[in-house]
Formats: sequence, C-alpha cells, structure tokens
Amino acid sequence: MGRKKNKQVVLKPWCWYCEREFEDEKILLTHQKAKHFKCHVCAKRLSTASGMVIHVAQVHKEDIKRVPNAMPGRDLPNIDIFGSQGIPEEDVADYERRMSEKLGDPASKRSRPPQMQSGVGTNGGSSGASTDAGIGTGV
Ligand SMILES: [Zn+2]
Ligand SMILES: [Zn+2]
Repeated sequence: MGRKKNKQVVLKPWCWYCEREFEDEKILLTHQKAKHFKCHVCAKRLSTASGMVIHVAQVHKEDIKRVPNAMPGRDLPNIDIFGSQGIPEEDVADYERRMSEKLGDPASKRSRPPQMQSGVGTNGGSSGASTDAGIGTGV
C-alpha cells in the first residue's frame, strides 16, 4: 500500500461482471461461482469463466460465448476474473472514479432516487399564488 495524499475511497470488493458490491472477497467469489461461472447444463460451479467454458465444451460439447448474468461488454469468457483479481486496470480506475463521485455527493447516498416521476408541486401557471403551508387551513 503506497501512501497517497489525495484521499482514497475505500471500495468494497465488486464483481466485474455485474458491478455489484460485496462485503468481502469470499462472498464475491461465491457470487461469481453461482452467477457467472456456473455450468448451465449440470449446475457445476467452476472457479473462473474460462474454466466454465472449458467444462461446458469438454463435458457437454457446447460452445459458451457469453458469461451468464454479466453486463453487456463484460460478458467475455476469455477474461479471467477471480474475485476482484484480473479486472482490467482501466475498468478498475473507471469504477473507482464513478464510485468516488457517487460517494462524494453528500446529499445522496443512494445512486438513484426511488421515485422518478412523483407529482411534487404541480404548480400550474398560477402567478402570485399564496402557498399556504398548512397554517391557514382554509377549505
Ligand atoms: Zn456478478
Ligand atoms: Zn456441466
């Protein structure tokens, strides 16, 4: 670990295939085996995507071209990811940048507000309207 002056965001282990975060490396590995390295024929869990491809090719004579449950562009079975190891450097950098931007936002911890279209304040063109904040209680 080198010393750096600029504060670094400590990121949890994350899955390159689907960009989910995990509490620790062990859970991440379990996730990858269950979601991305599992043989779709016999449900055997392999330890890497290429291992899964080889297994399916040798045992079931099938050609796997995509890693299951992976994001578009991240479904390449020829890249060997093992937990958080093997992730291309630019993807790590990109992810860290996005995450630090997200975490740097003080107001929102969540990435997206749950409601996109809630009718908050549908003020039509009423000019000079008094916005009564519940004091007047006029009905
Ligand atoms: Zn994943
Ligand atoms: Zn199998």
